[in-house]
Amino acid sequence: MSQGRLEELRTKLDEVNLQLLGLLSERAKIAQELRVEKEKQGVPKFDPVREKEMLERLVASNEGPFDHETVRHLFKQIFQATLSLQQVDHKKHLLVSRKEKQEDTIIQLGDVTVGGGKPIMIAGPCSVESYKQVRTVAAALKEAGITVMRGGAFKPRTSPYDFQGLGIEGLKILKEVASEFGLKTISEIVDPAHIELACDYIDVIQIGARNMQNFELLKAAGDVKTPILLKRGLAATLDEFVHAAEYIVSRGNTQVMLIERGIRTYEKATRNTLDISAVPILKQETHLPVLVDVTHSTGRKDILAPCAKAALAAGADGVMVEVHPDPATALSDAAQQLNIPQFHDFYAEVKKSGLM
Ligand code: PEP
Ligand code: MN
Repeated sequence: MSQGRLEELRTKLDEVNLQLLGLLSERAKIAQELRVEKEKQGVPKFDPVREKEMLERLVASNEGPFDHETVRHLFKQIFQATLSLQQVDHKKHLLVSRKEKQEDTIIQLGDVTVGGGKPIMIAGPCSVESYKQVRTVAAALKEAGITVMRGGAFKPRTSPYDFQGLGIEGLKILKEVASEFGLKTISEIVDPAHIELACDYIDVIQIGARNMQNFELLKAAGDVKTPILLKRGLAATLDEFVHAAEYIVSRGNTQVMLIERGIRTYEKATRNTLDISAVPILKQETHLPVLVDVTHSTGRKDILAPCAKAALAAGADGVMVEVHPDPATALSDAAQQLNIPQFHDFYAEVKKSGLM
């Protein structure tokens, strides 16, 4: 081959390289537009069926010199690169991040506001045990000026032999009592199939620590409009916690509150270790309201007030605490729930600090 012919072929190759680069960049831009459209329509970004169809179509048009396997391999690399590009975009701009949205997300539960200024106190029994039990607590909360009551109807217990909650019956009790006293309610849902139904009975759906990375449950929570209280997992990093919230928000439900509930450490003095630093970090990193569950994080009644004050001083938008008319007979968390007079004292001490 003459030197001239060699140069000619090299120049052609360079031109084709540039054309390929142009086409790949154009392809990436179309894929990015497609992603925006998919997001608007709530369609999943990764579609393996469509990917398989595209590969089959390419193979069917392949006339060589590459064999079919090589064509598949080359295009899979292109698909993968496009997908990674979208993931990098998302990492930079999580929907829950402060970078994406500067203003605080404020959640309105009727006339009750969570986030954006005045912290809120949420109280109620660990489990809904009976109409009478819930009504007794609700009356005491109303008297104290509390507007949001918690109570578990579905209880994720360590032992299958422990009380598992009253289920839907418990949600009905919460609804009936809450409407009598004009309270808003929070209750944990553990099954994606119950999410829609729960919206008819409660004002806030809680996703518990054990389910923080139950992705199907998070997706179902993202598909409704009811506000979600997402608890930090027992051993979840803050990054994992934030990404769990992103699962909900990315499906369209922007009404998410985060709640620090203590994490597992080697320390035995408390049931879990309350990670106070989580509060300012989450407030800094995300625009979502951040609350602290002083009961499950400490498991100790004697330090609830100082921990609640610490949470508020660190910038928490609210505190959650468990209250039971007769903690000794409670069907769950008997050792850590406050009785009603203890709750009144606790609340008075927290209010005295001027932090709420
Ligand atoms: C609860 O709040 O009822 C509960 C079970 O808490 P956690 O999921 O934080 O353990
Ligand atoms: Mn409990």
